[in-house]
Amino acid sequence: MKFNSVLDNLKIYEAGKPIELVVREFGIDEKDIIKLASNENPRGCSPKVIEALKDEAKKANLYPDDSMYELKEGLANRFEVKSENIIVGAGSDQVINFALQSKANENSSILMAKTTFAMYEIYGRQTGAKILKTPSHTHNLDEFLEMYKTNPDISVIFLCLPNNPLGECLDTKDVYDFIEQIDKDTLVVVDGAYQEYAKVKDANKEIDVKDMITKFSNVLYLGTFSKAYGLGGMRCGYGVASEEIIKALHKLRSPFNITTLSLRAGIEALKDEEFVQKCIEENFSEMVRYEEFALENGFDFIPSYTNFITLKYDNEKKSSNIAQNLLKKGIIVRDLGAYGMNTIRVTIGTPDQNSRFFKIYRSL
Ligand SMILES: *Cc1c(COP(=O)(O)O)cnc(C)c1O
Repeated sequence: MKFNSVLDNLKIYEAGKPIELVVREFGIDEKDIIKLASNENPRGCSPKVIEALKDEAKKANLYPDDSMYELKEGLANRFEVKSENIIVGAGSDQVINFALQSKANENSSILMAKTTFAMYEIYGRQTGAKILKTPSHTHNLDEFLEMYKTNPDISVIFLCLPNNPLGECLDTKDVYDFIEQIDKDTLVVVDGAYQEYAKVKDANKEIDVKDMITKFSNVLYLGTFSKAYGLGGMRCGYGVASEEIIKALHKLRSPFNITTLSLRAGIEALKDEEFVQKCIEENFSEMVRYEEFALENGFDFIPSYTNFITLKYDNEKKSSNIAQNLLKKGIIVRDLGAYGMNTIRVTIGTPDQNSRFFKIYRSL
């Protein structure tokens, strides 16, 4: 069968290997497997969310509230904006898709860092647009600006702050200086999937979402419940922007795009900030152990503002071999070899999981 030609150059997104697959492939007992591959919260989600979901499950026969009133109110309060400034998606993934569908097409280009969140390119290509990447793997705003100025057909720019899969993060004031120079008709997507972590580690990375979207009518800020809030399985994310942008994105949203349970999970998660802050504190104290481990073992890492860390190897070791050897011992990490980087990305686990990671790594 002949499919649309945009599919020809499209790769299927390779998600982190699920635990079930490692059980099947390597015959390892499920309890001996640690998944440190998808930046999920190793402490799960707030117990208050689980409690609320038990009750909410009784409403499984009813369609969810398509206005998403309560969740939008919760988010509006959190960011001190109006409900009209918010769109909710099945993960912020879906909002990325809406954003691209709203602005990109075969006559336009999309600009992003060389090594950044894979879905920008995948959804981008689906629109037929050209993908432009900066020469540097990490975000370099001089390169972004230079490319923006020489490619007048750029309709969407992605800034991942902090960046997945590398973990670096630009200072917010530099981001402001950059956006000042961008035409108001170019959509700037600011992906804050790990903002909750970054702002705890360094106040210079904190984004005041209300201020940003008020100053810049062309910015779409993205957030998610999948990382710090521990709700990856619930598929709940959101975008915050000017009413004009949100209105346009809503035209692309199908009704009931997230489930009754996902809505409830998001609503309750927002109410338990204490849980999230505890997780973030533990995340950064555990990250120090990885930094020390890297130095002890003679390899480098990228300082990270997220819940993962990238370990960088020189030519002697190959990241794909290391990832594969860890997998055989039941530890799932992400090899970044496909990005042309000799690097593995490891999600920071619980203290016990991390101790096991170090022990098994040393035994390889
Ligand atoms: C995880 C992630 C997302 C999307 O997560 P959802 O589960 O779809 O909400 C978006 N951007 C980045 C950079 C991410 O790492």
